[in-house]
This record gives sequence, structure tokens and C-alpha cells, in this order.
Amino acid sequence: MTEIVLVGAAGRMGRAITEALAGASDLALKASVERGEAIPPGAGRTWSNDLGAAVAGGDVVVEFSTPGVAVAAARLCAERGAALVSGTTGLDADAERAIRDAAARVAVVRAANFSLGVLALRRALEAALAALPPSWDIEIVERHHRGKQDAPSGTALMLGRQAVERRGYAAAALRTGRTGRGLRPREEVAIHSLRGGTWIGDHAVVIAGAGEWLELRHVAEDRAAFANGVLAAARFVAGASPGLYTLEHVAGAAAGAAASG
Ligand code: NAD
Repeated sequence: MTEIVLVGAAGRMGRAITEALAGASDLALKASVERGEAIPPGAGRTWSNDLGAAVAGGDVVVEFSTPGVAVAAARLCAERGAALVSGTTGLDADAERAIRDAAARVAVVRAANFSLGVLALRRALEAALAALPPSWDIEIVERHHRGKQDAPSGTALMLGRQAVERRGYAAAALRTGRTGRGLRPREEVAIHSLRGGTWIGDHAVVIAGAGEWLELRHVAEDRAAFANGVLAAARFVAGASPGLYTLEHVAGAAAGAAASG
């Protein structure tokens, strides 16, 4: 039985993961960690505002919280010998480095998007870019709920970087929004972020040629789409050697196990 310490447990993702864990017989929710004021009234003894007290060697820490907490959780996991599944987005370069440092000592899965649909979207994007001439323009449109803190979304950045790298553009070719006069540079990928209402996560990569265009789009309708990938990642890190893994590794391991079993 793998013991899970869930950080950000009262948040939107925390609640979805708690619900998914309730249906998993091989994963046990050992502790739900939250800010003191966010712990729901009447919460049981497994709730805590003390991350340090909750984590022991051999646990799997799952965090969907804030960039500062993501770094604190990574350092604590490295210190205690606990594996980490990290999903918070909007991390700066220093925070990303802190997570990479932790991965030198423990197994870490880090993904800006834990849904299998987005993994398929990435593969479809690779295939589309291989099939189309570089004259086709790439734009990304993402929509999220009004409570989202970071823009553009981590998933849009991931898709944008993939497109920029595939085309061989400079990193600065990835930009956000568009305003003013002047033609769109040929070597550019722009992300447009919409915020409002209750959209859970919607990403469309638009590739536009002369007289035709195509759109590769993923829509998350329920946070269970992410939570299922998070549970698969928790099972994966529980048995993995130290290192920084992505959802590709998790999906590859699951496919390998299905083929051999
Ligand atoms: P949310 O604001 O609903 O939840 C975050 C929770 O973290 C809150 O309950 C907050 O109280 C808690 N928190 C803040 N400080 C804390 C601390 N010191 N200790 C413990 N808990 C603390 O946000 P959300 O929609 O659940 O998203 C959380 C993060 O996950 C965001 O960065 C979001 O972009 C990201 N996200 C990632 C994926 C993915 O697949 N990787 C999917 C959805 C959201």
C-alpha cells in the first residue's frame, strides 16, 4: 500500500484527487495538508497544516498548491526520502531548478498537465508539424476559470515550446497576446489566454495555411481527467529510482505493464 500525502488538499485539484483516491485500493490517503484557515470545518485527524510533520521516508507527496509550496515540498521530499508528484504551474526558473535538484535524490513526476488527452494532443501536434510546411502559422488559444492564478497556462507554454523547438525557432519566438500595428513575424508562436467563468482547461493549437487551417484541441470537462493521471503517476514514482520523470514515462510504464500482463 502506497501512502499519499496530499498538499493543497482543499483546493480544486486537491478535492478531485481526494475523490479519485477514495476509489483506489492500492493507494491510501495518509495526510491532507492545507493552510490552517483552508482546512474544512469538522475535518478529521488526517488533516494538517504542518507539511514537515506529515511526510516520512517512503511516502508519495502529491502537490497541487502554489509555486512556493511546490519548492518547499520538493526540498522536504529530498531530505526525507519521499517521492513527489508535482502539478503546480507558473513556477519560475529558480523553482524549476529546486525541483530538478530534488529529483537527483528522489523520484519526481512533474507535469503541467496530467491528462492523457493532452499527452495525445502533444503527439498529434508533433505529427501535424512534421506533415505541414513551415509557412503554416501556429497560434495557441487557452481558456481557464476565473480563479486561475497564472497566465499563460503551463500547458499552453508546454505546447508552445514544443512547437518552437520543432520548428527550430529562437526561444523568444514564443510570445503572449498581440497588439498594435505590423505584420505577424513568420517565426512566431503566440499564446492567447482567456480567463472567466468555470472553464476547467481548454487548449487549442491552431495551424493556419493559405486557404486552409486545422485546430488540435483538448477540453478538460472534469478534474477527474487530471486526477486519474495523478494516481498513475503516484503508482509510478512509488517504485521508481531517483530522477525527473514526465507523464510520457508514466504512460509508457503503464502501457508496458498492460502489454506484459
Ligand atoms: P486552488 O487554488 O483551488 O488550490 C490550491 C490549494 O493550495 C488551496 O486550497 C490553498 O489553500 C492550498 N495552499 C496554499 N498554500 C498552502 C500551504 N502553505 N500548504 C498547504 N496548502 C496550501 O488551485 P487548483 O485549481 O487546485 O490548482 C493548483 C495548482 O495546480 C495551480 O498551479 C494549477 O495551475 C495547477 N494545475 C495543474 C494541473 C496539472 O495537470 N498539472 C491541473 C490543474 C491545475
